Amino acid sequence: MIIVFLGPPGSGKGTQAEILREDHGFEHFDTGSRLRAEIATGSDLGQRIASFTNEGKLVPIEIIKEMIQKFIRETKAERIMFDGFPRNREQAQVMDEALKELGDDLDYAIYLEIDEDNLLQRIINRRFDKETGEIYNLVSSPAEKIAELKAADRLIQRKDDTEEVFGTRLKVYAEETVPVLDFYREQGVLNKIDGDHDIEVVAQNVKKLLGL
Ligand code: AMP
Repeated sequence: MIIVFLGPPGSGKGTQAEILREDHGFEHFDTGSRLRAEIATGSDLGQRIASFTNEGKLVPIEIIKEMIQKFIRETKAERIMFDGFPRNREQAQVMDEALKELGDDLDYAIYLEIDEDNLLQRIINRRFDKETGEIYNLVSSPAEKIAELKAADRLIQRKDDTEEVFGTRLKVYAEETVPVLDFYREQGVLNKIDGDHDIEVVAQNVKKLLGL
């Protein structure tokens, strides 16, 4: 089964993808995390990538294309999900072609629909545990856990999770990624899920959709 998660920054794509990975063994292709891992190596490529991600802009297609083609050709997993990809129609076409080469098709595009007023708060309060990579929210995650991680100096904020960069990310989403919704609607694989509920409720609805 091959699925993609779509939705604006902060809509919960990564969180839902992690739940499917843990509960149903999906291989999770998280474009943003892979790009951040390359940045962390300090390579020339990483520095080039950071010059886009730090401003909330899309990384050029040639970098993304290579990552995605390599992954699609090499993965052996039966269940795959993409999160943070495709971000525009060109990327959607790249994925289509790479899958077709292997005789595969996308099964579900899951659009996490969300009230945009909630997004900024989700983004600016988002933190990562630098030891485990787990995502927390300063407001909605259990206060005790947040206090414990803060005391251990383990919580970090992504460079692009600021109010200023968020504005650009939302604009890029509206201009470039929203047309991907139409692309999948035309193919008959687009499914909307209300992302404004608790994490567990959204997860149940995603699983129901996928027949899991
Ligand atoms: P994310 O972790 O999905 O919020 O992505 C963080 C940043 O990584 C984005 O703002 C982009 O700069 C970059 N990025 C992630 N996925 C893609 C993609 N598919 N194409 C281009 N840039 C991307």
